[in-house]
Amino acid sequence: MFNPSLQQESENADILRGRQLHAAEQNVERALVGSLFAATLTTVFFHSGWEHTVWAWYLGVVVVCTVRILFARRVTRHPSGPVAPAEIYKFVLWSIVTATTLTSFPLWVTMNTDGFTFAYMMALTLGTFWSASFVHAPIISTAIAFMLTELGVAIVAASLAGMDWSRAGLVALFVVGTGAALHIIRQHSDLFRQAVLQQLELENKTEVIELLLKEHEAQSSDWLWQTDDKLRIAAPSARFAEAIAQNGTDLAGQTVEQVLSDRATDGNTEALAELNAHLANRRAFRDVVVPQSLDSQTYWLSVSGRPVYDRRDRFVGYRGVMADITVARLAQARAAHLAQHDALTDLPNRAQFSARLSRALCRGQSFALLSIDLDGFKAVNDGFGHPAGDKLLVEIARRLQNSLGSTDIVARLGDDEFVIQTQQANPDRIASLCRQLIEATGQPVIFEGSEIAVGASIGIAFAPTDGATTDEILKSADSALARAKRDGRGRFRFFSAAMDRELQLQQQLIQDLRSALGREELILHYQPFIDAQSGEMTGCEALIRWHHSERGMISPGQFVPLAEESGLIVPIGDWVIEHACREAASWNNNRRVSVNVSPVQFSNRSLPERIQAILQKTGLAPNRLEIEVTETVLVEDPKMALDALGQVRALGVRVALDDFGTGYSSLSYLREFPFDKIKIDRSFVQDLEARRDSQIIVRAILDIAMGLDMTITAEGIELTEQADYLRQIGCHEFQGYLFGRPTAANDLPAALTGDREASSPTAADGQLESVCRADSA
Ligand code: C2E
Ligand code: MG
Ligand code: MG
Repeated sequence: MFNPSLQQESENADILRGRQLHAAEQNVERALVGSLFAATLTTVFFHSGWEHTVWAWYLGVVVVCTVRILFARRVTRHPSGPVAPAEIYKFVLWSIVTATTLTSFPLWVTMNTDGFTFAYMMALTLGTFWSASFVHAPIISTAIAFMLTELGVAIVAASLAGMDWSRAGLVALFVVGTGAALHIIRQHSDLFRQAVLQQLELENKTEVIELLLKEHEAQSSDWLWQTDDKLRIAAPSARFAEAIAQNGTDLAGQTVEQVLSDRATDGNTEALAELNAHLANRRAFRDVVVPQSLDSQTYWLSVSGRPVYDRRDRFVGYRGVMADITVARLAQARAAHLAQHDALTDLPNRAQFSARLSRALCRGQSFALLSIDLDGFKAVNDGFGHPAGDKLLVEIARRLQNSLGSTDIVARLGDDEFVIQTQQANPDRIASLCRQLIEATGQPVIFEGSEIAVGASIGIAFAPTDGATTDEILKSADSALARAKRDGRGRFRFFSAAMDRELQLQQQLIQDLRSALGREELILHYQPFIDAQSGEMTGCEALIRWHHSERGMISPGQFVPLAEESGLIVPIGDWVIEHACREAASWNNNRRVSVNVSPVQFSNRSLPERIQAILQKTGLAPNRLEIEVTETVLVEDPKMALDALGQVRALGVRVALDDFGTGYSSLSYLREFPFDKIKIDRSFVQDLEARRDSQIIVRAILDIAMGLDMTITAEGIELTEQADYLRQIGCHEFQGYLFGRPTAANDLPAALTGDREASSPTAADGQLESVCRADSA
């Protein structure tokens, strides 16, 4: 693998060697200048004879060289590395020039003065040897060149001075000088060997690094790039050229900017400006992302690089790495998109929608918020499976989007919860939009050959009137939605402050209801059924009552929907069935008891088993129990409901269809399940005398029910005329205030209960019942 630290090391060594050379070179020049300066000073200050001047010269050389030596030692204490031959030649030349200059002054003195002694020559020569060996110590060849030049000049000087007697001395001096040179060579040979070894090692390393880099480049998705000092791409690798070159253009010689420029791509100009700023300032940079496009597809390059300097610290270009980060970038963009959007429908999600609402509220914008909930979606999921549910949601999301204006936005907040923010503030327009949305949602979707359909209920709130914060406005729209659902599905409702108060009250009631069972605040009243012909009591219907400790009597019409909404209807419903069964079991006859079972109770698949367990526990014969269900049970999740109803009926329990004629009144339900009884809704019975249409409808229901062999019960009979008419047209059973109001178990007439056993558990249910003996008129 590519190891950047190896490359870094070799480049550091390069720089260091450059500095060593530079320092050594400077030493020579400075020594020359320094000694000339010292000699001049001595001459000026002492005005003495030439002897003194020469001595001063010698001293100057020694002092200046010593200082330089110390400096050079400090700078060059690292092992010296290989030096380029050209540098060496240049340095040797400098050394010769320096040596000649240094010696020519004493030579000139020698030739122009008398009494120059051997001692002076000796001192001079040894002094220069001494300084030379140290000044040029870092570079052996130059040190030798310096000494030999000095020696040569000294011999010439001695000869010219005609000092025969000194020749022997000069020969000796030559021997000593050569010895000293050999000594220096020996001293430095280790260093030299080391340098050669280092050179070899470095060459090896460079080779290895190059190999590694090549291998790295071949295997990875990155490309190495380099430029010359004019920032023109140099020696581009084939892979790099192939990846970058547009239309096969030759990259070499083009600037980085030219190579990466793609003005048609968004963000390219800005990225190049950033890159150029780094390049112009010779700064190292990392991961500058440059967008490009190829065949109308955008891709992203990540560019890193750093400036490279030669041994003399001169900028020679940039080297770096480029990588195609398109895949990572797209994944990143996808992740960012998913954080803001719903994965299934691709609509904005809660996070994005809330942020939008907050911004709009902060800016003081007015808008309407529509909270939409699908009716019957759970049934689709349960009946057709999640793929069908998903398909439906995607389709509905599309339809909602299509129904909106360009400035409106729809988001999916959860399972089947959608919200719309619309700039529309006119209630009439919003009402017509809601109708359109409900209509669009209700259109069936074909899934694997079957038509599946759901409805929609909508709650509407206006900002900022109905809420100053995101939470408040969403809560208001939800309150309105809850109201729309309660009023019957497929409707829309505008939020009102009263609704809010109502919602708060409802929340409070739900709280209270949770503990109502434990506090024995719930009781059952019973309303008899009368045989239309004989006038005898055939049984009764158990109707729940809540005696709230502070609010008094609360009717089921008020709290049953809350119990359904909160799921509390399941334990409450079980309690009702058990108490009703226990009550009927205490009678000394075979009269039936009817209990109302909510659709929510059917969502729990164990309902038939629980009914069976209760029957066993209370000992009531199954055929003495009747459950009353409304059509809604078949609307929500028909398959599951029919299944459960079948199981209940298989136990021997009778099943009645309550409130028939209201709601959906789809006759197909009568075909789908063999109900034992149909209860004609009170609203038709009460209009019987006044409205002919009610008579026609009641007669039609009777015809159908009789044809299907079902018992027909008319609810809410208050007048004898109503009873007479219904008897005349063939109705089997009556229920209504005319025959008896719902009453507490204790007050049930003996005609219904027979000779009730004294220890009836329901009858001994406590004092509570004594305070609510019968429903007041
Ligand atoms: P429902 O099952 O249709 O019950 C008949 C309702 O009509 C009862 O109201 C009853 O008191 C009332 N009623 C009977 N005869 C007359 C009459 O001649 N005139 C008038 N004006 N009303 C009459 P209630 O008890 O207020 O119950 C209302 C609804 O609450 C019931 O309608 C039923 O759907 C529901 N409910 C009652 N008890 C339970 C229960 O234990 N579980 C469930 N899930 N729902 C229940
Ligand atoms: Mg009923
Ligand atoms: Mg009813």
